[in-house]
Amino acid sequence: MAQRDYYDVLGVDKNASESEISKAYRKLAKKYHPDLNHEPGAEEKYKEVNEAYEVLHDKQKRAQYDQFGQAGVNGQGGFGGQGFGGFGGQGGYSSQGFGDFGDIFGDIFGSAFGGGRSRVDPTAPQKGQDLDYTMTIDFMDAIKGKKTDITYTRSEVCPTCDGSGAEKGTHPITCDKCHGSGVMTVTRQTPLGVIQQQTTCDKCGGRGTIIEHPCQTCHGQGTVDKKQTLQVTVPAGIDNGQQIRLSGQGEAGKNGGPYGDLYIVFRVKPSKEFRRNGTTIYTEAPISFAQAALGDKIRVNTVHGPVDLTIPAGTQPNTNFKLRGQGVPKINGTGNGDQEVTVKVVIPKKINDKQKEALVDYVKAGGGNISPQEKNFFERLKDKLNGE
Ligand SMILES: [Zn+2]
Ligand SMILES: [Zn+2]
Repeated sequence: MAQRDYYDVLGVDKNASESEISKAYRKLAKKYHPDLNHEPGAEEKYKEVNEAYEVLHDKQKRAQYDQFGQAGVNGQGGFGGQGFGGFGGQGGYSSQGFGDFGDIFGDIFGSAFGGGRSRVDPTAPQKGQDLDYTMTIDFMDAIKGKKTDITYTRSEVCPTCDGSGAEKGTHPITCDKCHGSGVMTVTRQTPLGVIQQQTTCDKCGGRGTIIEHPCQTCHGQGTVDKKQTLQVTVPAGIDNGQQIRLSGQGEAGKNGGPYGDLYIVFRVKPSKEFRRNGTTIYTEAPISFAQAALGDKIRVNTVHGPVDLTIPAGTQPNTNFKLRGQGVPKINGTGNGDQEVTVKVVIPKKINDKQKEALVDYVKAGGGNISPQEKNFFERLKDKLNGE
């Protein structure tokens, strides 16, 4: 790829000041940042812009570039350019020269480990943090849905400074230590040699800007914590563990970025009467032996109110009956699930003499024989204590 002139890349004059270069760099880096710009060629442009800035914002490298052009700095960051600068410019193996060896290692390891230039521009707009809110609701509220208010605390753009963090009439200035990049290079001695690493700028805390006169309201943060109350519509049919997203109700963004989102996670309390799995409701209905044998019509409770259920003659214990459309409303609005009713045939623990007689007659009518066993004194006492 043919190298473009670094001044052309940044669109600045050959006599541009340091701050003009930083300003032009920030603007272009933001424009072509791969996280923000997905157009083809944007990443190449971003690399080019960074390369130009790396040379032009460094007084020494810029002087070499002005004097020798590409050969003076070799923007690819390889051995040639850095070495040339180190030996030629500063004269040999002094501590400065060694530092430039560090540059070489830094560039090799930096690119080998995927570090280097893929940092995020601290002045680019960033979306705010998402927030979670857990809402505990009653079983029936989850079935029917409801509207309810929630109050929570979130950061909002400071109304006094509009998020800049600077007092009215003043503006944050570009950090002179990192020239607005938010990162600085530190040199470390390792067994492999001197390695340069990029860390967050300690002067501006990575923001790339310094606020000389902080806003009184937010103390330079650009955001203030605020309680806000919001009406939430609980969708009919919501299930335990499901969540809804309220767009833009999270924390304030940075550098003019949009607000994050608010996620409401639902915890649904269990019901004593109904068991739920998805959109299906499960219940049990106790019936007598006679109802199972003869058939009957019984009342069954559903989440939508009581309905009639026909028990056919000869129904066996634990038979399941389906009540179509009596289950939980589907979230997408396409009707309700079903309810499944399991019939439990209940054998009476105590019957009166007339019932006993009738049952013995029932057995005899079928041609059988039966010898009823009387409960003894202790069994009767136990029944009494159990309240029967
Ligand atoms: Zn403020
Ligand atoms: Zn800084």
